[in-house]
Amino acid sequence: MSDNFNPCMTCGACCAHFRVSFYWAEADDAGGAVPAALTEPLNLFLRAMRGTNSAAPHCVALQGEVGGCVSCGIYAQRPTPCREFSMSGENGIANEACDRARARYGLPPLFHAALTMITESYVSPGASDRPDHVQSPG
Ligand code: SF4
Ligand code: SF4
Repeated sequence: MSDNFNPCMTCGACCAHFRVSFYWAEADDAGGAVPAALTEPLNLFLRAMRGTNSAAPHCVALQGEVGGCVSCGIYAQRPTPCREFSMSGENGIANEACDRARARYGLPPLFHAALTMITESYVSPGASDRPDHVQSPG
């Protein structure tokens, strides 16, 4: 889940779609910040957020219902993969994984890079101020 104000606050799909694994020392019993009690071991080097190493992943720290009002119960202590996962469209960059997680819950993709390119391609020196052939993404 991303850390900016954005649609993540009414989504949470990535927290209930992927296995969230990270280096074991990110947990607080090894000097890190992630509450170890909310993790489970994967192997000698990795841990996962509890609930995510499953055929139907759902992080134990996710509060609320996916697609509704959600939050991360350990936001300030969340592991690296959560900090690095961006919502699609953040900084103008698409994230297919965000789209895929959202699709699992019937939520539409957030960003269409192609739409921006197509719209901009219509702009030309000879175009009128109010061209009737430019479509609005809205
Ligand atoms: S799936 Fe995308 S929009 Fe939803 S919470 Fe994760 S990063 Fe945010
Ligand atoms: S730790 Fe927080 S941000 Fe990471 S998967 Fe769990 S609920 Fe989502």
